[in-house]
Amino acid sequence: MSNKTLAILKPDCIRKNLIGEVILKITEAGFEIKGLKMVKLTEASAKGFYEIHKNKPFFNDLIKYMTSGPCVPIVLEKENAVEEFRKLIGATDPAKAAEGTIRKLYATSIQENIIHGSDSDENAQKEINHFFSRKELLDINGF
Ligand code: ATP
Ligand code: MG
Repeated sequence: MSNKTLAILKPDCIRKNLIGEVILKITEAGFEIKGLKMVKLTEASAKGFYEIHKNKPFFNDLIKYMTSGPCVPIVLEKENAVEEFRKLIGATDPAKAAEGTIRKLYATSIQENIIHGSDSDENAQKEINHFFSRKELLDINGF
């Protein structure tokens, strides 16, 4: 069990001016912020990040969406972080997400669903490395 996960506040979160509200939900749930930045994903970077979905029918739209404006990747720490964070954000489709989850509260569609959360410890580490260099995290946190 690892204690880190990667969140991304997606472009619709930034467009709706919800960065503060969503981060408050995250910190109120007991997650600590260990890295945070604003980035505009290039097409290549978005394709790399979501490579696992490259054969899905929604892939091209997903890349357009994720490159449509700035994103905010965040490194989070909590015991059992991956599972706990997936619970906090709710199901991919906000219509199916549990009451009180971030997607239920703020998302509008299965694509524009506000936020990303890593789905395994292995992917969390890969995804953290996608946005934050080892040196950066070492300089900030000593890990
Ligand atoms: P994420 O990986 O962003 O945390 P997730 O793990 O809940 O989301 P995935 O199946 O990994 O869901 O899908 C990645 C993203 O692709 C979703 O968050 C959503 O933005 C988009 N997506 C997934 N399924 C669909 C779909 N059926 N139609 C349109 N977009 C979709
Ligand atoms: Mg996923």
